[in-house]
Amino acid sequence: MSDRVLIVGAGFSGAVLARQLAELAGIASLVIDSRDHIAGNCHTARDANTNVMVHTYGPHIFHTDRPDVWDYVNRFGEFKAFTNRVKATIDRGVFSLPINLHTINQFFGVSLSPDQAKEFLASKGDSSIEEPANFEEQALKFLGKDLYEAFFKGYTMKQWGCDPRELPASILKRLPVRFNYDDNYYHSPYQGMPAEGYTQVIANILDHELIEVRTGTTYDPATAADFVHVFYTGPLDGYFDKRLGALSYRTVFWEKIEQQGDYQGVACMNHPGVDIPHTRIHEHKHFTPWEKHESTVAFVEYSKETEEGDIPYYPKRMEPDKELLAAYAELAKQEGGVSFLGRLATYRYMDMHQVIGEAIDFASTWLVARNNAAPLPVFPAASLL
Ligand code: UDP
Repeated sequence: MSDRVLIVGAGFSGAVLARQLAELAGIASLVIDSRDHIAGNCHTARDANTNVMVHTYGPHIFHTDRPDVWDYVNRFGEFKAFTNRVKATIDRGVFSLPINLHTINQFFGVSLSPDQAKEFLASKGDSSIEEPANFEEQALKFLGKDLYEAFFKGYTMKQWGCDPRELPASILKRLPVRFNYDDNYYHSPYQGMPAEGYTQVIANILDHELIEVRTGTTYDPATAADFVHVFYTGPLDGYFDKRLGALSYRTVFWEKIEQQGDYQGVACMNHPGVDIPHTRIHEHKHFTPWEKHESTVAFVEYSKETEEGDIPYYPKRMEPDKELLAAYAELAKQEGGVSFLGRLATYRYMDMHQVIGEAIDFASTWLVARNNAAPLPVFPAASLL
């Protein structure tokens, strides 16, 4: 047996964990990834024809309210200022998202002040809903039928492939509603884009004498015994060969557009209409406004149910999924010698900053347990359900 740990997955979870274990405790690791590149779904690479930095698996916009997480990523790469200002095209025009005072005034053809808009939207909301039990109720209570149907209902049906009443209210809570003209998609105090892409940041995190990286390498459970411990960041059901069944995910796929000039004038254009097959279009050169490009690439995004061989993106977390998750979590706890970390291994809808923060915290928790000869944590502290 070597004195190394094995880390399965070279995305943010695996990379941050490897770095923390190396720096805090001098623990060596082998980090493997079945893909032929590091950085997981955050992988970025320059487009061969246009030289635009493309987010291969869909755009990632870094934002956090944790100063330690912001300092952490900035230690490993230069982050440039970037504010995500999303637009939505509907049948009667182009509007600003998230819903803000500009959206409200334009959509309803009014000129309200912040206080008036608050009162106005409250009058539109369904006050009979006390505790919103799902996505639709959350929208109807706080936005009312008109805004819900124009911007959220169709988009959500396309994105998730189900009735919005089957989805948790927490999905809509990701988006703020603002009664001022702030059209920043995120409310985090720190926001930015890595000047040379996420892959470079993750390569720098992994660049440590105690860390060895092997891409194109699939996890073989038979090798687990060769390591002090295994940290698994792949899909939880996949670890167990889906023996209890498959957790459901939505996957996304893209149609590429390449042309001269500017395709849509903004990085993110949403298309909420239910009669339009795609959900949104991303034009990646607008994610790096400090660069100049004569030509452009844009990606039309579609969503569908994940089938065998598709990349799992969004955990659906329907009721049967939660039961299955609880059953897999039980199996995981009985496994011994393995910990599960990150978006796929914990089956949660997580952003990059949450993944990084949790990996920083988990490394410390795991080290404290190990030093005290206490039971090693199998999952992060946050509840999976
Ligand atoms: N959403 C919507 N209309 C939009 C944007 C978002 O209905 O124009 C809903 C949709 O259900 C989506 C959720 O809000 O899944 C969260 O949106 P977010 O932009 O955070 O999704 P992500 O960028 O993570 O795909």
